Amino acid sequence: MHEAIAMPAWVGVAYLVAGVCFILALRGLSSPATSRRGNRLGIFGMGVAVATTLLTHDIASLPEILVAIAIGGGIGLFTAKKIAMTDMPQLVAGFHSLVGLAAVLVAAAAFLNPDAFGIVDPATGLIHAASRIEMGLGVAIGAITFSGSIIAFLKLAGKMSGKPIMLPGRHVINLGLLAGILILIGYFTVDQSAWVFWTITGLSFVIGFLLIVPIGGADMPVVVSMLNSYSGWAAAAMGFTLGNSAMIITGALVGSSGAILSYIMCRAMNRSFISVIAGGFGGDTGAGPAAAATDRPWKRGSAEDAAFLMQQAEQVIIVPGYGMAVAQAQHALREMGDLLKKEGVRVKYAIHPVAGRMPGHMNVLLAEANVPYDDVFELEDINGEFAQTDVAFVIGANDVTNPAAKTDKSSPIYGMPVLDVEKAKTVLFVKRSMGGVGYAGVDNSVFYMDNTMMLLADAKKMVDDIVKAMAH
Ligand code: NDP
Repeated sequence: MHEAIAMPAWVGVAYLVAGVCFILALRGLSSPATSRRGNRLGIFGMGVAVATTLLTHDIASLPEILVAIAIGGGIGLFTAKKIAMTDMPQLVAGFHSLVGLAAVLVAAAAFLNPDAFGIVDPATGLIHAASRIEMGLGVAIGAITFSGSIIAFLKLAGKMSGKPIMLPGRHVINLGLLAGILILIGYFTVDQSAWVFWTITGLSFVIGFLLIVPIGGADMPVVVSMLNSYSGWAAAAMGFTLGNSAMIITGALVGSSGAILSYIMCRAMNRSFISVIAGGFGGDTGAGPAAAATDRPWKRGSAEDAAFLMQQAEQVIIVPGYGMAVAQAQHALREMGDLLKKEGVRVKYAIHPVAGRMPGHMNVLLAEANVPYDDVFELEDINGEFAQTDVAFVIGANDVTNPAAKTDKSSPIYGMPVLDVEKAKTVLFVKRSMGGVGYAGVDNSVFYMDNTMMLLADAKKMVDDIVKAMAH
């Protein structure tokens, strides 16, 4: 049977402690006020898990493990330092592909050398049937995660068209492949021939590719979070193969929290999970409406106009988006908010669940600039307030404010709940040019409204200028 059963009791206790720390870490991360404590608990739990693994290693030698950690850790450190915050989604997708590949490699190692993994039934000399199911599932989920994440990475990094690529009859092909994989995993329990194992692996690589290729750019946030969930399940399956309870717990936590996040994001974009998986969404990106953009009349304002309008206001709601992250305008923005508050203006921040390029992107940046948590509101808590607000200050956001999501059935973002900025008395819209479109590539009618003033400049430069104008 599995080696975990033969492990000393303290190992089980240590892994349990690590598992409890991970659960408490997730709990802590659910609120900005407790997130630091949550992070520390997570680091401690991971320290316990790694130390226990190092002390009980039996498949690889200690130097081998340390060399692998040094190489992997070095690459991770280098990449994380180099990467721009705005490229985070593709980095995450890239890292998920590695988790998938690791699951495939562990399953392959266990298949090729089952004695070392303690999964051989002494009575028959064959791999335990239960272990073959774990291996089959592990390698399938791992391979799907690997090829799917590579496609997500290429699409997010702009190295492959973000548009959905629709193969004819893809649903039938996908369902056929999925059924084939499941049947082969079942057959693997009675025949452990190499061809069965490698066919499961090959078909899973193919289905991962086919599943993600038809998904359009607008659905990518959900895909990244879905692949995050898959990578967790792949790790959990690996945990079974290795008989490592810490990996099973961690994998299950990543798998289920990723699934919950995918669900929340689907709801935030008013998409059903099935329709995201089925693909094809976001196909019209960059189509007609954006081209007509600059033909319509619009009003341009200056930093002084913006400063004046906001200083006269009772309430200002700031709506940050991807452009604020690009410009790193969060510190200047907080300074602007502080100045307004000093003048008795109520300042609130409205965060759309998919603003920016990763879940929680805006929350992280605002927290970094020490914006008080009490001033930051989720979409459903603040949307009703725009109608009683003097100024909506939209900075580097676009799609998340686009009323077309409410009215235009042909829009690629139709159905996504959006922030009702157009209901405010005045909308100040900061972006660099009239031509620049957001992630979904569609025009925004708010630019052309009578009560909108466009502030065309880099977000940080514009806010710095507004702060200067306020000080005069
Ligand atoms: P958008 O991408 O819709 O719009 C960003 C706006 O910022 C653009 O209009 C751009 O206009 C402007 N901008 C860019 N750089 C600057 C700068 N330096 N200074 C000032 N303005 C700038 O962002 P939103 O946050 O509104 O929406 C997020 C979109 O990303 C949604 O469609 C969402 O689905 C998608 N997405 C979200 C993910 C997530 O998890 N949050 C992950 C992946 C995608 P201009 O070029 O004219 O300056």
